[in-house]
Amino acid sequence: DPVYLNGQFLPLAEARVSPLDRGFLYGDGVYEVIPVYSRRPFRMAEHLARLQATLAGIHLGNPLPLAEWQKIVERLVEQAPWDDQSIYLQVTRGADDKRDHAFPPASVPATVFAFASPLVTPSPAVRAAGVAAITVTDQRWARCDLKVISLLANVLARQQAVELGCAEALLIRDSYVKEGAASNVFVVKDGLLLAPPKTQLMLPGITYDVILELAAQHQQPLEVREIAEAELRTADEVWMTSSTKEVLAITTLDGKPVGNGKPGPLGVRMWQWYQDFKNTVMRK
Ligand code: PMP
Repeated sequence: DPVYLNGQFLPLAEARVSPLDRGFLYGDGVYEVIPVYSRRPFRMAEHLARLQATLAGIHLGNPLPLAEWQKIVERLVEQAPWDDQSIYLQVTRGADDKRDHAFPPASVPATVFAFASPLVTPSPAVRAAGVAAITVTDQRWARCDLKVISLLANVLARQQAVELGCAEALLIRDSYVKEGAASNVFVVKDGLLLAPPKTQLMLPGITYDVILELAAQHQQPLEVREIAEAELRTADEVWMTSSTKEVLAITTLDGKPVGNGKPGPLGVRMWQWYQDFKNTVMRK
């Protein structure tokens, strides 16, 4: 399947990037992941808006107009063999002929890469059981609202989870849970849905926004505020959300059951609302 690199569609095996690329040298770049259902991108405008916001946040001009991004996504979707896909987009600050932390001259073009892979959402069996997670100290930098490719702290946190047989690591900063290594987090207590606020210490998830919209639409009581670690540990339900995991119950936290250790009723309902919403949007 062809990938997109700097204006061309070509086989992955033929795609080449300079070892002086600033993505490789510094992790100096941004990325985005867009879910595609039945060959239709879901919330593409929102994903491309977040890409734009992240580019602005690292002072990198968007190398392509919005319409061009849409065309690239559409062509990748068309050419891939799967109905449900995950489209990865990446922009780095390009490759200069020397290594220097400061930005290269404006004449150095950004590197743009995009490719499609199959979208595998959690299976019914995984959803029925929920997943295990650990908590770790959030060791990321202070601009977690930017979707940048420098993901070392996220990588180490997720690896720690995997080594303990867990699916996700929840990141605790100053005794508040912010999000997961690659997901947002929601908590349910006594019928109230809690969501951490969008600050510079959390990625503004596209799925997170959908969940807030669905909660409002279904008159689900909701508070957007910081969630203390103690509240996380005494929650009735904990969920992780992302474009690829959708809404997934965390039923074990640091080896202890969350609530009764089974996916809770609100999480099950929210997952269904999410499916209904997706199907409604996709039918239009
Ligand atoms: N937080 C982090 C740190 C993430 O990496 C992701 C997924 N990329 C999310 C939250 C969820 O974002 P989205 O719902 O847009 O996939």
